[in-house]
Amino acid sequence: LNALRHALARNELELHYQPQIALQQETVIGAEALLRWNNPELGMVSPAEFIPIAEDSGLILPIGEWVLRTAVTQMKRWIDAGLAPMVIAVNLSVVQFRHPNLPDLVTKILEEAGLPAEYLELELTEAVAMNDPLAAVGVMDRLHERGINMSIDDFGTGYSSLSYLKKFKISKLKIDQSFVRDIIDDTDDRAIVVAIINLARSLGMHTIAEGVETERQLAVLKDQGCDAVQGYFYSKPLPEDQFATYVRNRLI
Ligand code: C2E
Ligand code: MG
Ligand code: MG
Repeated sequence: LNALRHALARNELELHYQPQIALQQETVIGAEALLRWNNPELGMVSPAEFIPIAEDSGLILPIGEWVLRTAVTQMKRWIDAGLAPMVIAVNLSVVQFRHPNLPDLVTKILEEAGLPAEYLELELTEAVAMNDPLAAVGVMDRLHERGINMSIDDFGTGYSSLSYLKKFKISKLKIDQSFVRDIIDDTDDRAIVVAIINLARSLGMHTIAEGVETERQLAVLKDQGCDAVQGYFYSKPLPEDQFATYVRNRLI
């Protein structure tokens, strides 16, 4: 915990960016910012390990703010450097989502960076959205008013109330990688993926599948009308310079 406390000040945190690919045109439509902690003693610590510690200790607020500012500023820089404008997706902790200052903070960060709100997407997990759904509707409305897009991460693993889902100002469902992993061999998983895609379509939302690793998984998802994918099949999360190179090389 003490080491994590110093991680920000000592510049041990960095963001990697995973390309999101539209299945129709096979173009890069976005990047998900994924946090990395590079500690001299502990090595590379996975966010799955340190995010829960950061949440319990309150450190997630300054860390989350750093993530937002770094990701938004990076996207502005890429656009200025000539990359086609795309969405930067940032994961949000429940602690950040519940903080009353969130809409103002996000707006301030966008303004300071000079990035239009339409290029930011906040990823909320089902647990975040459904924990106190009535309050969540209010927060989403306030973010939506400011032009900020939201998606539901790891969709299908939580307990979504469908009556709330339609009230949420959500533009995208992210199909959890656990369903994508066995989509070829497991008919139940395939049925769940198809159901999510159809549910999203009827609610006017888009779908993106996570954890796509093989050409066969990709083919099934495309067949079923999934809008976009991210996963090792196209690229793992990349440091900023490699991400820009990846996008430029795909255009050739
Ligand atoms: P997530 O948001 O669902 O991110 C997807 C995770 O799947 C990432 O793990 C990514 O590296 C991994 N992944 C991507 N493609 C593939 C694939 O084809 N196969 C497999 N097996 N894995 C793939 P990562 O980077 O370790 O992040 C884990 C989780 O930590 C994230 O899950 C997210 O919930 C959380 N996280 C990461 N960065 C942040 C952050 O800045 N803030 C907050 N609050 N949470 C974060
Ligand atoms: Mg995510
Ligand atoms: Mg996910």
